[in-house]
Parts: sequence; structure tokens; C-alpha cells
Amino acid sequence: MVEETIFSKIIRKEIPADILYQDDLVTAFADIAPQAPTHVLIIPNVLIPTVNDVTAEHEQALGRLFTVARKLASEAGIDESGYRLIMNCNRDSGQEVYHIHMHLLGGRCLGPLLAK
Ligand code: 5GP
Repeated sequence: MVEETIFSKIIRKEIPADILYQDDLVTAFADIAPQAPTHVLIIPNVLIPTVNDVTAEHEQALGRLFTVARKLASEAGIDESGYRLIMNCNRDSGQEVYHIHMHLLGGRCLGPLLAK
């Protein structure tokens, strides 16, 4: 049995979040602790705990993460200056919420890919 996270409640609008986009497959909302001027989380509506749990049946929803990231980056005006898409998996990556999510970060120079 896979345990729901707070992100399922955000999808169902049971707790408040700044939702920027939602359709039948994905939901995008502002990160509660932004690390850059633009910091959006884009998540599949179906609960997939980590990238290790991804199967072929998730391909449509996971592809949608990218088309929504592109749209939101354009709307935020960071498509030309650039942005970073991050998806963490498990302990060593620092994953905190076990409902996979794509971070869309931009609006400033983001520096090197990895902190030491
Ligand atoms: P992770 O470290 O798992 O890749 O990222 C989890 C992200 O979720 C963090 O950037 C954190 O700030 C964000 N987050 C955690 N709880 C909430 C919440 O209740 N609402 C929102 N909007 N973001 C959250």
C-alpha cells in the first residue's frame, strides 16, 4: 500500500497551494520554500512515490510534466534566460516528499549543478 503525501491533498484542493496549472494528468503549484524567483513543482496526479516506481503506463503523465514546464517557463518569462528541471530520487538526492515532482527553477543564475 502506497502512502499518500501532502501533495495528494494539494491536488484535491484539500489544503491551500498556489496552483498555477491543473489538468487531468498533472498539477503545478508554487513551492512553499522557493529556492529561486521561479520555483514551481509539477507533479503527476497519480501517486508515484519515486522514479524507481515509474512504469510504461505513466509515460503520458510524465511527458506532460515537460510540456507544462515549458509553458510555465514561458509564462514566467524565463524560457530565454534559462531554467533548471530537477527530479530527486530517494535519500542521497535529498527527496523529501515521496510523490514524484519536477522542480522548475529559474529567474536568476542558478550556478553549478551540484552543491558539494
Ligand atoms: P524534494 O526535496 O522532495 O525534491 O522537494 C520537496 C519540495 O516540496 C521542497 O522544495 C519543499 O519546499 C516543497 N514542499 C514541501 N511541502 C510543501 C507544501 O505543503 N506545499 C508546497 N507548496 N510545497 C511543499
